[in-house]
Amino acid sequence: MLPRIEARKLLQQFKLNTLPIDLTSLCTSLCIDVFYDSMTGLDGFFVQNQERQKIIIIVGDSVGLCRQRFSIAHELGHIRMHHGRVGFSIAGKITRSPHLEASANMFASELLMPKMLLQRFGFLSPERIADLCQVSLETAVIRAREMGWA
Ligand SMILES: [Zn+2]
Repeated sequence: MLPRIEARKLLQQFKLNTLPIDLTSLCTSLCIDVFYDSMTGLDGFFVQNQERQKIIIIVGDSVGLCRQRFSIAHELGHIRMHHGRVGFSIAGKITRSPHLEASANMFASELLMPKMLLQRFGFLSPERIADLCQVSLETAVIRAREMGWA
């Protein structure tokens, strides 16, 4: 599954065409609950029951709003691309596949900074992208480069 295409499908399905992308309403539409909790060593994860009827995303509450948004979008990527239980614990240590993590990041980037919406502006600085999309400047810089704007 191509991460960016999966993210675009989701944006289209729920007619998300204004920035910043409303993750709260998206999660509600998908019947996914988001909880905030303190955690160390990771930004977020999700749990689901075997029948996949109930999915909960847990996000670290000690980081800023932008990073929380990216974590939620990243976890949505794992969920939508059926990565299943990608985080598992070996003696208390979380191990994750670099490939699946990269896919989830790509999904999150497209979900929060949709190419289709950004290109309407013609040109945006990373600072504007960060502001409009409620993402970190670091993430916006990467996106601006991908858009050919930096
Ligand atoms: Zn992940």
